[in-house]
Amino acid sequence: MRASRLMFATLRETPGDAEVISHQLMLRAGMIRKLATGLYTWLPLGVRVLNKVTAIIREEMNKSAMEVLMPVTQPIELWEESGRAQAYGPELLRFRDRHDRPFVLGPTHEEVITDLARQELKSYKQLPVNFYQVQTKFRDEIRPRFGVMRSREFIMKDAYSFHANQASLEETYQGMYDTYHAIFNRLGLNFRAVQADTGSIGGNGSHEFHVLADSGEDDIAFSTESDFAANVEMAEAVVTGTRPAPAQAMQVVDTPNAKTIDEVSNFLNVSPSQTVKTLIVRGVADDSDPNSKGKYSLVALVLRGDHELNDIKAEKLPQVAAPLTFASEDEVKALGLELGSIGPQGLNIPVIVDRAASVLADFVAGANQAGKHGTGLNWERDAQITLVADIRNVVNGDPSPDGKGVINIKRGIEVGHIFQLGQKYSEALNCKVLGEDGKPFVVTMGCYGIGVTRVVAAAIEQNFDDKGIIWPQSIAPFSVAIVPMNQAKSPRAVAAAEELYNELLGAGFDVLLDDRNERPGVKFSDLELVGIPHRIVVSERGLDAGTFEYKGRRDSDARELSKDELLAVLK
Ligand code: ATP
Ligand code: MG
Ligand code: MG
Ligand code: MG
Repeated sequence: MRASRLMFATLRETPGDAEVISHQLMLRAGMIRKLATGLYTWLPLGVRVLNKVTAIIREEMNKSAMEVLMPVTQPIELWEESGRAQAYGPELLRFRDRHDRPFVLGPTHEEVITDLARQELKSYKQLPVNFYQVQTKFRDEIRPRFGVMRSREFIMKDAYSFHANQASLEETYQGMYDTYHAIFNRLGLNFRAVQADTGSIGGNGSHEFHVLADSGEDDIAFSTESDFAANVEMAEAVVTGTRPAPAQAMQVVDTPNAKTIDEVSNFLNVSPSQTVKTLIVRGVADDSDPNSKGKYSLVALVLRGDHELNDIKAEKLPQVAAPLTFASEDEVKALGLELGSIGPQGLNIPVIVDRAASVLADFVAGANQAGKHGTGLNWERDAQITLVADIRNVVNGDPSPDGKGVINIKRGIEVGHIFQLGQKYSEALNCKVLGEDGKPFVVTMGCYGIGVTRVVAAAIEQNFDDKGIIWPQSIAPFSVAIVPMNQAKSPRAVAAAEELYNELLGAGFDVLLDDRNERPGVKFSDLELVGIPHRIVVSERGLDAGTFEYKGRRDSDARELSKDELLAVLK
């Protein structure tokens, strides 16, 4: 591809409303543009990356599954049959056609695939079978954010398997677990598979695949010395011996100072009818409050329910958080707390503070005494709320539930999720086939999702520097860029660059020839921003010496290489 014919839409400035690095860099590198909240257009450069991700997913999925393509638009009757028309809630976008018939935009496809299976599958002999698609989903997310990481319309690879029994499901599930490892390894991501709850989809076994990154919205817990790895909700369930129940209160553990949930609710002035789940203490920059401008308030947040985090808007903060005192950034860091901020759209949260109750107590007491940042809060009273942190049983440095090693909590971006669905949908939709004995039986199902568009953002969250994106080789929009030096005045450099371009194309490389009418400095910074792994400069000087100037995206300096050396480096 010639850069003069590719729409290079790089931006020098970081767009103001992009909070996380991947969102900023995807806009700056000209990969995406916003159409409306949670809706993005993918530009040519972005599509190249998306296509590479999709190609890897297809290659691995094709080894054991068959590709299909289902409609985005789904008749609501199917959702009434499964019971999810009510249960799915406001993320499900409903609308009517010209005949006043109700439809939904599919957030997922269990109903549609089960409807297909009940019509097409007749006999146990056709099982097991696994169908997948790469297709657009719509979820009316309460708080779309971070660009394509949590958008309303996004592309998912979703697969659905059908089985004669649980043992067959478990075999395919294990196969998909391995396939996901192969996919995420090929994508060049640093990821972990963790045990997960099955959420609104239902069923028994489930794993999430998380790309490890500080900007992740999920907490994942893993043991330092064993294979134990779970998302925090699930890890808590393992520790407490309960199943995770997002809508229910966790029990306050029986420590002498623990408060009941009602007491805490009263204290923090949150509605007692809404259940308390987790206590977060952290430093939050609140520039909307003149008293704390430039400072961080150390606040305790009580979160209610699983997704409440997303609902907390800055204006609601006083209802859910009690500021303890104000502190400078250094002081917050010295306490080992996370720094957060309140943006125009609400709190930029994520993590629990599992430590520091006593440190925090000392700090607040000290601050009050010195009259430094004291807010006149009564620590005797306020300290009690930190004890509620005991609600959370899984904390950094807790023993691992399997007794091996200690728990380490990290932030993750959920890029994939696999479920053993069991018979939830097949039973509801009456999906039966004939068994060996000639009698019909209800099939058993599994489902397997990957957030294709989210993967692109997650890869950037793990691979960037101050110059821009650093793509893993396998998903870079181009693997090599060639820049002819002094293009306007050196037909010799241009001709040699063209020759190298054709040679590398012929050798199967994905090459970009930067023939744009721009200064080299502009080209170099664009190529770095866009994250192309290898850059080659062709100049008269190099041609005289029989060399090319080569610079890897992670290298600090360029090197002069002979053609053979160059080819060896590119391989
Ligand atoms: P999350 O917890 O982030 O809301 P989810 O658990 O609701 O995700 P699943 O129903 O498990 O999502 O869907 C499978 C995959 O689709 C997820 O693992 C994720 O990678 C991707 N995904 C889900 N919601 C979105 C979204 N709003 N934008 C982009 N990708 C998404
Ligand atoms: Mg979700
Ligand atoms: Mg999830
Ligand atoms: Mg999920």
